[in-house]
Amino acid sequence: MKSTYIKYIMKMLKGVSASPGIAIGRIYLYLDENYKVPQYDVKLNDLPGEMTRYRAAVKKASEEIDILKVEAAKRNLDKESGFLDAHILMLNDPEFDNLIEENLNKYLKNIEWILFFTVKKFINALESAEDPYLRERSIDMYDVAKRVFNHLMLKERTSLPDLKMQVVLVSNDLLPSDTVMMRKDKVKGIALNGGGKTSHTAILARAFQIPAVLGLSDITDYARSGGRIIVDGNKGLVIVDPDKDTVKKYRKLLDQWTKYELSLNKQNKLPCVTKDGKHIHLHANIEMPEEIDSVIEHHADEVGLFRSEFIFMQSGFEPTEDEQFQAYAKVLKAMKEHGAVIIRTIDVGGDKLIPEIDVTEERNPLLGWRSIRFCMERKDIFKTQLRALLRASVFGKLRIMFPMVSGVDELDNLYAILQEVKADLERKKVPFDKDIPVGIMIEVPSAAITSDILARKVDFFSIGTNDLTQYTIAVDRGNEKVAYLYDPFHPAVLRMIKTVIENANKANIPVGLCGELAGEPRAAVVLLGLGLEHFSMAASSIAEVKKVIRKIRMDEAEELAEKVLNLESAGEINKLVQKWMEEKIEYTE
Ligand code: PEP
Ligand code: MG
Repeated sequence: MKSTYIKYIMKMLKGVSASPGIAIGRIYLYLDENYKVPQYDVKLNDLPGEMTRYRAAVKKASEEIDILKVEAAKRNLDKESGFLDAHILMLNDPEFDNLIEENLNKYLKNIEWILFFTVKKFINALESAEDPYLRERSIDMYDVAKRVFNHLMLKERTSLPDLKMQVVLVSNDLLPSDTVMMRKDKVKGIALNGGGKTSHTAILARAFQIPAVLGLSDITDYARSGGRIIVDGNKGLVIVDPDKDTVKKYRKLLDQWTKYELSLNKQNKLPCVTKDGKHIHLHANIEMPEEIDSVIEHHADEVGLFRSEFIFMQSGFEPTEDEQFQAYAKVLKAMKEHGAVIIRTIDVGGDKLIPEIDVTEERNPLLGWRSIRFCMERKDIFKTQLRALLRASVFGKLRIMFPMVSGVDELDNLYAILQEVKADLERKKVPFDKDIPVGIMIEVPSAAITSDILARKVDFFSIGTNDLTQYTIAVDRGNEKVAYLYDPFHPAVLRMIKTVIENANKANIPVGLCGELAGEPRAAVVLLGLGLEHFSMAASSIAEVKKVIRKIRMDEAEELAEKVLNLESAGEINKLVQKWMEEKIEYTE
């Protein structure tokens, strides 16, 4: 039998570079119920191949319906399942097959699009019919088309935790809970329509060192499960159906990238000091206890942020006090010889949904019932976490951090609960560290502006630029449509960072920064000049940031920061910093 070779047209898409690295692999299209039908051009000599794909999908859909009929018969549901016969008739109607072929030849589009285009014409006609019986047939028509479509897209029934093969994951968007639960060893790369650089999916991709490009808008229109794809996380590019030369070029780039990453390992053992001898502390952010090996491998001074809510998301339900205790103790024990561990109390809500504990969608989730606002109402969950944290504190140097604090009243309420939990443990003679430092994230503009007041009440600050940028500029950090506005180099954000550092210094408390900005070499230079000494980032970013810090003097960084603060826009600041990096330390991105 003559085999049909389909040649697809290479397509390059630009998105947001969310996690560095290069992946070359096969697509696994992970689509939810609201997926869009892909639409791309095909050439004349592709037409027989497209028709073959269509007929194979129709055959599979018919077989599937036959199985359903047998199942229905076993349950004596022949009458109720009578519509399945109509579906088989529709599927095998030669006239419909002819029409599909005609439209394919006429419009030269991929067969998925042709299928829905043809079906839509039928549906429109049926929906305007007088006869209610005919009108109802439009639902059957759609149902049949969708069944064929699922086979055309090779829509596997596999869920992300069950992936069997190495794939590049392509989707409309991924929830942080999807990302946390997927089989990381099977995902070579990620390409999504949605998301931004500081969305939690991007943060997780960096933590797992999976190259990722987000904010692509319409990658699902071009991707077929099983098709070839290249994800260039360094440049924010995705290439679907790359030609031979492009694959060859990217194989070389992948090789170079692997060598570069290995060369960065040399930085691990070097101290993080500026050229003039100032010691800068580089810490690691983690989402799950398993990441602690990478933290130690990259010689982080401390864990600057443990996003504890991911323990909740990993299991999809509330972990018990003991399960939490084990997770916190594991990290504290592993870091005992190295440094402190800042564990942030659960920061659920926003994009971090956990329906099992009532954290579900809201009308305005980022301004809604999230983080400590959730904890203040669900005190049962909050107290359980605090008890687990306090009990684990005997295994290392724990610091507790509260997220999303917006002012002093909230902070006082949080302290009162912490006090209650401590008193309870004391009564029960459960041992815990009596001097655990307690700090807050500065990630809401009201907290940044009143940081002089808050500084008197806490042991440390950690600036969360991911949210601080989002709330200061009023731009959703995960929405690709407004991603062009999301820039932590906006003068308003930089001014707030400066204010927070100054207020912390005045109050003599340490201040760190744990947003994604800390892990960007060009931002690290500006932050250094603003007086920041504690940077917390994905463990894999430490070596690169250290490499840059070791090349500069404090007076140079301060001079740059001063110039930056005098500029009027994020655009100007980006340009200046870029130029400075290229000239001063020959750094290009
Ligand atoms: C931040 O907002 O900067 C931060 C570090 O917290 P998260 O990214 O988890 O919101
Ligand atoms: Mg935050």
